Amino acid sequence: PVDRLPEIQEARLKLPVLAEEQVIMEAVKENDCVVLCGETGSGKTTQVPQFLYEAGYASAGGLIGVTEPRRVAAVSMSHRVANEMNLSTGVVSYQIRFEGNVTKDTKIKFMTDGVLLKEVQKDFLLQKYSVIIIDEAHERSVYTDILIGLLSRIVALRNKKGLPMKLLIMSATLRVEDFTENKRLFRIPPPVIKVEARQFPVTVHFNKRTPMEDYVAEAFRKTCKIHRMLPPGGILVFLTGQAEVQSVCRRLRKAFPYRPKNTQNTEMEDAPEELRKFKRQKQKKSVSLPRIDLNNYSALPVDEGDEDRQAGVDDEDDEGSDLDLGDQPEDSEEKADPSIPLYVLPLYSLLAPEQQAKVFRPPPPGARLCVVATNVAETSLTIPGIKYVVDCGRVKKRFYDRVTGVSSFKVTWTSQASANQRAGRAGRTEAGHCYRLYSSAVFSDFSEFSEAEITRRPVDDLVLQMKDLNIEKVWGSGALMSAEQLLISLGALEEPPRQGRMVDMERARLSCPITPLGRAMAAFPVSPRYAKMLALGRQQGCMPYTITIVAAMTVREIFEELDRPASSEEESSKLAGRKARFSQMRRLWAGQGQSLLLGDLMVLLGAVGACEFASCTPKFCEENGLRYKAMLEIRRLRGQLTNAVNAVCSDAGVCVDNKMAPPTESQVVCLRQIVLAGLGDHLARRVQTEELLDPKWRNGYKTPLLDEPVFIHPSSALHKELPEFVVYQEIMETTKMYMRGVCAVQAD
Ligand code: ADP
Ligand code: MG
Repeated sequence: PVDRLPEIQEARLKLPVLAEEQVIMEAVKENDCVVLCGETGSGKTTQVPQFLYEAGYASAGGLIGVTEPRRVAAVSMSHRVANEMNLSTGVVSYQIRFEGNVTKDTKIKFMTDGVLLKEVQKDFLLQKYSVIIIDEAHERSVYTDILIGLLSRIVALRNKKGLPMKLLIMSATLRVEDFTENKRLFRIPPPVIKVEARQFPVTVHFNKRTPMEDYVAEAFRKTCKIHRMLPPGGILVFLTGQAEVQSVCRRLRKAFPYRPKNTQNTEMEDAPEELRKFKRQKQKKSVSLPRIDLNNYSALPVDEGDEDRQAGVDDEDDEGSDLDLGDQPEDSEEKADPSIPLYVLPLYSLLAPEQQAKVFRPPPPGARLCVVATNVAETSLTIPGIKYVVDCGRVKKRFYDRVTGVSSFKVTWTSQASANQRAGRAGRTEAGHCYRLYSSAVFSDFSEFSEAEITRRPVDDLVLQMKDLNIEKVWGSGALMSAEQLLISLGALEEPPRQGRMVDMERARLSCPITPLGRAMAAFPVSPRYAKMLALGRQQGCMPYTITIVAAMTVREIFEELDRPASSEEESSKLAGRKARFSQMRRLWAGQGQSLLLGDLMVLLGAVGACEFASCTPKFCEENGLRYKAMLEIRRLRGQLTNAVNAVCSDAGVCVDNKMAPPTESQVVCLRQIVLAGLGDHLARRVQTEELLDPKWRNGYKTPLLDEPVFIHPSSALHKELPEFVVYQEIMETTKMYMRGVCAVQAD
């Protein structure tokens, strides 16, 4: 029996899925697999695990597993469910890539879908689980389709063995035929239960004109207008990325100051004396520092996926209504108006969890809530009390060119399904309004649905995992071919026979079996390039360094971004001072001579080494431009990779050393060879003098697959060195094509 607090119980009763509890549980009892559809906010994620728990699915020692496509959702939903059930996080727990609070008492486990896939590798039958819920299946993350494919077989196998397991697929869109009608997944289509959500009407207001460049400014203006002119109710603003979110938050806070007692903004004030002196010096000398555009280099959140869904909103142009705010830009610049405080909160996936959790709490009395978000707020998280939505109509997505290997983040128009989903966020608690910062004509040109993630990301890691499970074809696509090609070149798969025509070759390649090296690589929880480095990392005592470099390379954005626009001259010189210090630190970490040739990877190694030496404190990170959260993640990954290495190779005997001495010269040479083994196909050569005819090739590098030059970014350790041959982690296209994670290759 679950002992819920009365107010929780009351809130639950209002959720549409509660009315369907019996229908759902009966369907689960009668069928191996059930599909459940219901509008975002209807209570699927928070309630269905509780239904299963109360029906006894966790009582015979089995676990209730729930997969989420996003880490944010796995963490926050586990907390929410623990809280609703009045149980500890040792019972309702989560596990994301390197982090979790699962205990031996865990009964409900939220995890990312990648984590579950790894578990399939360890125990194909998933015997720990009595039921698995695949949540947010409409998001079509790369793992969703594969997991559904695997789980439908696992369920059949478990039944055969007399250890039945249930599978529940939950989706926020009714477009579920993609799975139910797929004969490869289900011979007999599973039953679909639809939960009727009580969605209040949302009036959609289109702009007459569509601002092309300044939609961020337009979002700010519209939010100001709503706040000034419209009745109470939370505002949710959709923008595309972290930088935009922060900039709008800053402007809104300035326009409608909300000052809680004793929480002043002390960001700079508490900087240590030494650092402040350093900054003052810098300010006095006013040297013209090189403008390092860290933004150009930054990998912004990859997991801000897109959604496929329909929302029951009426999106009419009703430009005459009272609540239509028009879209004439206001000329008057917003003056600070503390009389109507606005409680402004950012929401994006790299935000610290404590900050993220704030959006679920009621705003302080007398202040209106305003959440400025990326599309994490589109489906995964339901923010209470939202009455107004401001939708910029765009989304930032990662694009990956399978042929050239170039990645880029592009802001593109979102899909109609996605825009309707965003609008729907305004109608959860009462009738609401959605202000679209684009015209209805532009909307009708949006594509109907967004494409699945699998078309936008490399899949070499998935292919290796499938091969390790001895599964040949889970799904077919062109993505498979290039992934297999890479795996063959890394030595993880056997070479295909060399005879025959092209067509036969391709067919033959599809059946390249995994090699012993491939099996070892598959045991590491990182993508195959990095796994290869680990597999070779033992030479000359390099393993601890290899582990550290790999850990740092696979963690997103370890350096803090400082590229925000400063609001005052004073702030701008503060920022310049910090930037100067950070680049000085990076030069220090890069070292001299041989280590400098290890380039950006040496900087990573140096940064992690220094940070761990200083016990990885928030203060050290803050002072040296490192993201604290990233450093913790690296620490966990180092531990995890160290265990994995020891498990694969019982005599490796590596351990995590927090006072790791820097590598010796000969170790650095060895590390460069190890790195080359993983990144060998990411080779670039500096263009030779005679090719310098066209100025666009100045300081450029030539890669085998691109006609255009690629460059070493100004913030790279090797920006001045310009070695003849380099390997790189990836190419990111921003203002130019820049190589990320550059390391020099021995040219002898
Ligand atoms: P669904 O999965 O169908 O989209 P959820 O189960 O996520 O729905 O959400 C159900 C309700 O629970 C929503 O109204 C949401 O606002 C509320 N909720 C979810 N997480 C929290 C939280 N951490 N704090 C308060 N309310 C929450
Ligand atoms: Mg949900």
